Amino acid sequence: MEFQIKRAGKPRTFYLIGSNLAITCVCIALVTTFGTSQTNIEFADLLFEGASSVLAFLLFAAAAVVTVSGAHMNGLLSGLFLYQMGALLDAMDEVVAYPFNAWSITGDIFILLAQVILAAVAFHFVSLTSRIADTDRLTELQNRSFHQRWIEQYLMRSDHPLAVIAIDLDAFKRINDAHGHDFGDKVLKHIGQLLKQFMRGHNGIASRTGGEEFEIALKRSTESKAVSIAEDLRSIIEQSPPPGLDCVTASVGVALSQPGETATTLRKRADAAAYFSKQSGRNRVSLAGANQTVSNISAT
Ligand code: GH3
Ligand code: MG
Ligand code: MG
Repeated sequence: MEFQIKRAGKPRTFYLIGSNLAITCVCIALVTTFGTSQTNIEFADLLFEGASSVLAFLLFAAAAVVTVSGAHMNGLLSGLFLYQMGALLDAMDEVVAYPFNAWSITGDIFILLAQVILAAVAFHFVSLTSRIADTDRLTELQNRSFHQRWIEQYLMRSDHPLAVIAIDLDAFKRINDAHGHDFGDKVLKHIGQLLKQFMRGHNGIASRTGGEEFEIALKRSTESKAVSIAEDLRSIIEQSPPPGLDCVTASVGVALSQPGETATTLRKRADAAAYFSKQSGRNRVSLAGANQTVSNISAT
């Protein structure tokens, strides 16, 4: 998931701008053929409505030159085209009396529709941008900064304990050295998929917080629940290696939030517990106590 801005192919650009100009010319011809001259021309209105239409056309032409993957380009083009036609009809209404009254509100209807479409396109664009800013590109899990903010907000708003499970893959450097960095990336993606699937049955978030480091945060948890979930995770990682590897293991640390604790110290305690698992032989789960103590829970 990402934005990629590219030049649109020339045929597409010509087709879009050509069709726009053709429809505009037909519209002007129809109105001038069937309408009659206005006697009382509002020049200021004519100027502003005409300028709006030309501006909308220039934006349409600019949008026709590029494609942005992930964005609703067709929505943007339709919205701008409707705006351009609406403003054009309004401008022509100043100089040509339409034969039917209904014609003169057509411009306003087009502009209203255009505003709805452009607002929806803008909303989609903003939400996509924010999703991209919060997502890790490689694994598509949440990223480190989102993870920290999410925990801070949970601790501020909720009285229920939050469990943080820190996961550090074992001997990952060796996997890179033996199979290459690209293969290492595939292993990280695979772990990301495992965590995503795992989280479908749990209330919380999974994030990639560093190179080969992941973290899970679980709402409304208890020490025993969090430890049992961490043990399930450790075992899933061990038993579901990616294609091309016999085994991947992880050292896991669990910490449960204490009343008034900050996100930073909670995460530090989970990290210290994972480090303790690493020091005690890897591929195991450790639990952080409230007072900087850590104990091994599982050892395989
Ligand atoms: P340990 O069991 O002590 O955790 O050993 P380790 O090799 O996993 O730990 P270490 O911290 O020594 O090395 C982490 C490795 O992870 C080194 C680095 O090249 C690799 N790594 C970090 N980010 C990425 C990444 O995005 N892609 C790939 N392929 N490798 C990465
Ligand atoms: Mg590490
Ligand atoms: Mg590691």
